[in-house]
Amino acid sequence: MNQDVSYDVSAIRQDFPILNQYVHNKPLSYLDNAATTQKPQTVIDRVHKIYARQNSNIHRGVHFLSNQLTEEYEQAREQVRQFINAKHAREVIFTSGTTHSINAIAYSFGEKYIHEGDEVIITGLEHHANIVPWQALRERKNARLKVVPINDRGEIQMDAYERMISSKTKIIALSHISNSLGTINDVKRIIEVAHQHNIPVLLDGAQSIQHQQVDVQDMDCDFYVFSGHKVYGPNGTGVLYGKEKWLEEMPPYQTGGEMIQKVTFDKTTYNELPLKFEAGTPNYVGAIGMAEALRYVEKTGIQAIARHESQMLRHATQKLQEIPGLTIYGTAERKISVLSFLIDGIHHYDTGMVLDKMGIAVRTGHHCTEPLMNHFGIEGTVRASFAMYNTLDEIDQLYHALLKVKQMFS
Ligand code: PLP
Repeated sequence: MNQDVSYDVSAIRQDFPILNQYVHNKPLSYLDNAATTQKPQTVIDRVHKIYARQNSNIHRGVHFLSNQLTEEYEQAREQVRQFINAKHAREVIFTSGTTHSINAIAYSFGEKYIHEGDEVIITGLEHHANIVPWQALRERKNARLKVVPINDRGEIQMDAYERMISSKTKIIALSHISNSLGTINDVKRIIEVAHQHNIPVLLDGAQSIQHQQVDVQDMDCDFYVFSGHKVYGPNGTGVLYGKEKWLEEMPPYQTGGEMIQKVTFDKTTYNELPLKFEAGTPNYVGAIGMAEALRYVEKTGIQAIARHESQMLRHATQKLQEIPGLTIYGTAERKISVLSFLIDGIHHYDTGMVLDKMGIAVRTGHHCTEPLMNHFGIEGTVRASFAMYNTLDEIDQLYHALLKVKQMFS
């Protein structure tokens, strides 16, 4: 298969300094992008510039540096708003990542709306970050957690989903795209059905923000969350998007500085959105760095990235299927560029270790989706996940490396 010539992957690779190195004396092939993505030079430079020239705590300064950075922090919020097409910038809350965002919603939404006997629906595809916070809520409120089953291709069973909704259902929380299998869920349909029952939907966007155009108004989701580090931005950054009507009603889940309007020992009034949900000094360096990453994605073009990645997924699927004894987990009709697999008789960890010695970085294990692994009756998989800077050559290398792995263990 030939590389799409209109997409200049070698120029893109030049922008990511980390890719240009050897590990174990082999050129690095980084295929662990679902775990975290690498950072372009523009993001590294932006973060460096803040610490070298601009650092100052935001929002409460009268001086030049503080005002300048406050403005850039709010511009970063506006950049996120545009990127996900939120209606208002005040619907964009900066957090430390997807896990933080889901915990915040589970706590705050749960405080306000979930009572004994109420139900939360999740799916069999979820990352632990979208399971455990709801279990904690279940314990706190004596609520119920229902799980929509999936089929053996790794797709949500829509009939079961529709049957599961009841008058007790208060929220539906699911991954937009599965991190272990790559399944793209039919979230528009899921949201449509939920809204017929006036139930809000939270989308875990940790694996969608970097792979396809996200339009929260078009999807009509009530909450959408993601991590900056999965979309070429700095670690410890993330976003909680919520429709204004929910965020206005929900109580803050953390209290302290920044999120207040007025404090006396008798009474405190809270700040307006978005600051109501941003207690303490925010990670302003990270937020501005994340906005820079989103600009990089925009410049490259999310549609072009998606085309490139789906070409890689097709090629990788075809090559890996040629390997006798290799099983791919996750064969949904609509998928992003994630390939989970096992080779008969070879432990996923051993496969990963040998690939590493050949310079190929993949992830092995349950990928924080233990219940999903249980569904397939396995402990874990080898997962290769491709990003905008990966090449068809790297997939061919993976294919040849896997043949060697097979040979070594036969
Ligand atoms: N949800 C999904 C689907 C993920 O893939 C991940 C990370 O792998 C998370 C949640 C948690 O993200 P973070 O660790 O950045 O909070």
